[in-house]
Amino acid sequence: MATAALPVARRTIDPDDEAAFLDAIDQWLKRSVIPVVMHHDHNDLWPAELVAEMAEMGLFGATIGREYGGLGLPATTYAKIVMKISAHWMAITGIFNSHLIMAVAIERFGTPAQKAKWLPRLASGEIRGGLALTEPNAGTDLQAIRMTAVRDGDDYIVNGTKTWISNALHADVFALLVKTDPTANPRYKGMSLFIADKRDGFTTGKKFKKLGYNAIDSAELIFDNFRVPADQLIGSIEGQGFFQATGGLELGRINVAARGVGLAEGALRLATGYAQQRETMGKPIAEHQAIQLKLGDMVTRARAARLLTLDAATTYDRGERCDMEAGMAKYFASEAAVDNSQDAMRIYGGYSYSKEYDIERFYRDAMFLCIGEGTNEMQRMIISKQWVKRNPA
Ligand SMILES: Cc1cc2nc3c(=O)[nH]c(=O)nc-3n(C[C@H](O)[C@H](O)[C@H](O)COP(=O)(O)OP(=O)(O)OC[C@H]3O[C@@H](n4cnc5c(N)ncnc54)[C@H](O)[C@@H]3O)c2cc1C
Repeated sequence: MATAALPVARRTIDPDDEAAFLDAIDQWLKRSVIPVVMHHDHNDLWPAELVAEMAEMGLFGATIGREYGGLGLPATTYAKIVMKISAHWMAITGIFNSHLIMAVAIERFGTPAQKAKWLPRLASGEIRGGLALTEPNAGTDLQAIRMTAVRDGDDYIVNGTKTWISNALHADVFALLVKTDPTANPRYKGMSLFIADKRDGFTTGKKFKKLGYNAIDSAELIFDNFRVPADQLIGSIEGQGFFQATGGLELGRINVAARGVGLAEGALRLATGYAQQRETMGKPIAEHQAIQLKLGDMVTRARAARLLTLDAATTYDRGERCDMEAGMAKYFASEAAVDNSQDAMRIYGGYSYSKEYDIERFYRDAMFLCIGEGTNEMQRMIISKQWVKRNPA
């Protein structure tokens, strides 16, 4: 029996309310974020004050329904918020992305008691969530995970290790994908998703040192005879975890796409400014054809990435399946982020290599977007399969 999943609620927002919210984000970026980005990024420091301000603005409840204390924003507005923030510092959007994917899983697939217990606390930011799918031997091939949960009275006993989990150290609760039947065939039928809060038997491993995406902790989660109450099995039914986890990834991919748009637009903004100030051969480099070709490519990529992302978000807001649209947006926008940050590095010349300029952070942060929420190789296969399915011969 399948979990009784609620369709994604159709959501709209008054354009004036959206504009006011986006304006508040702009003010916050100017006041609080831009002045501290370099310090936190260079020192890989968790931005505690910014996280408190994000909670005050309601960002931890951005896509959670109003009945649970969230803002109930449509995915389109959420994507525009993520684009704005990422145009200055992509990494901090990672603090609420996996949090909101977890919330989506509870809101769509949880029991009424689970929603009432967890969603208001997640929406307020009182507790922060994360998504724990990847294991040392299984990233793309999620069905190969080895973590087990075995029923024991009113609890399940969980053993195994998750890796590369964003917000591992600072989040309080995780959507945890396990095998409740490791012998199931097909393998996905033996997978279940739990709400795992930190308690005895649940420890975090060492924080990874990363190329970029700094200030956001990525670490292992270790479960050693961890007892999780059976009423924290999402939907109170075994065997639905694979679909519950990957269902939430549609919103996650829209988020990653929006991050790619922001990063691509931010790199374009920096390069545009620099190209008009830096002079060679007696004129601004923006007037040299080689630089014009780059700027032309960059602005086109950024614009196309934005349109694809808003198209995916609009489809999501209509309550329709959007794995193809979200996949296309994620794929194109993350590649646009990589290409635009590289082109901006070339436009900056030698100064691109200096830590005194922001552009090197854009370059280090961009590549992660091609990997997270499903690699771009996998996105292309998802897009192709959906395309063929929608166009039978
Ligand atoms: C900074 C960071 C944060 C992360 N945060 C989280 C998190 O919060 N939660 C979480 O659960 N995970 C997280 N991850 C893990 C991430 O989701 C995985 O790294 C990603 O899914 C890829 O898995 P993998 O690294 O095991 O690569 P693999 O699955 O080993 O893939 C290696 C390469 O092979 C390709 N490949 C694999 N299978 C196929 C196939 N069938 N056909 C064609 N090509 C294929 C891939 O595209 C890739 O190029 C994070 C990773 C990073 C780097």
